[in-house]
Amino acid sequence: MVVAYKNIFLLEQLKHAFKAGKLHHANLILSGIGGEGLPLAIELSKLLLCDKETGCGSCSGCTRVSKLEHPDLNLTFPIVSGGSSGTSDDYISDFRKQLIENPFLDPSTWQREIASKNQQLQIPVKEIQRIQRNLSLTAAEGKNRVLLIWMPESIKTGASNKLLKLIEEPLDNTYIILVSYNKKKLLSTILSRCAPWHCKPLGVDDFLSYFPNETQETKAILSMLFAPNLGAAIAANNNLNNNQTAVFANWMRTCYKGSPIEITAVVNELASLSKEGLKNLVSTSLHLLEKGFYHNVQGTNTSSTELGVVNLKKLSSAVIPSGSYLIARALDSCLRDIERNIHVKTSLSVTSYQLNRAFKGL
Ligand SMILES: [Zn+2]
Repeated sequence: MVVAYKNIFLLEQLKHAFKAGKLHHANLILSGIGGEGLPLAIELSKLLLCDKETGCGSCSGCTRVSKLEHPDLNLTFPIVSGGSSGTSDDYISDFRKQLIENPFLDPSTWQREIASKNQQLQIPVKEIQRIQRNLSLTAAEGKNRVLLIWMPESIKTGASNKLLKLIEEPLDNTYIILVSYNKKKLLSTILSRCAPWHCKPLGVDDFLSYFPNETQETKAILSMLFAPNLGAAIAANNNLNNNQTAVFANWMRTCYKGSPIEITAVVNELASLSKEGLKNLVSTSLHLLEKGFYHNVQGTNTSSTELGVVNLKKLSSAVIPSGSYLIARALDSCLRDIERNIHVKTSLSVTSYQLNRAFKGL
């Protein structure tokens, strides 16, 4: 699993406290979304469950933590209701897969994996009851136990007091690690009983060092859209297959110019993509253009967006406020047509001309 980039010092502090027997039984790691909170919590879990008590990374304890399979590593994370047990047991294999693929997993990526857009993720009362039951048993291996709660801010109101009780009445050799992105949503009584650890956000260099094999173009797009949310960037990069950024760039450049011959050619090219590939491209485009609009309005520094194929800075300044509504509507309706497999070429043509008008502010 990944080493922390910016917060090695924080990990050292945690190790030092543990070695000196001074690590608090309840630790609250505060992190930016998609930042180093989760990777750090995993590193801390290794330390606590390591056979050599050093977080060596190679013993049986550390290895099983890396695979999220250690019997004394209890994981709690937000879910949607409707599974057979109503607890995180229903989603544990998805969670393992996601977190191992993307150690910086962010809430929206997780949401997309297990729920539809409108379903709310939460940690239900049943889940906290499950944890209480697990912790009432003795440790599987007779040593330390860890309860790692990802996003305690999503605990259902009624269950927060149960968590508070767990924190207030420490169990022997049991460590609670909370990874939160929003401490304002936590009960003040929980906050006051945890040792707080603040993760520094990732700098652009740290962020980009995660993508050593990507082209400059892909790196520029990822950092413009997602930095410092590395979790979202990793998820997007995994979806940007078949050199999708180049296809996107070419389509947008063509829409911007508005030449009918070129639009026909690009529409033919797009229509030859698989249905899934095309859906993915259109929703990525919607996302990119919304971000372009955001950058334009916010006047954010766009120096990292000078691309060889398309000048995104120019593009984002082309996405004027009155055009953003038109763009969202055009791409949304295009996405629906692709979904229903009707008039795909016509729909792509109409969308291209609508984008052209939106870019021109017409
Ligand atoms: Zn170890």
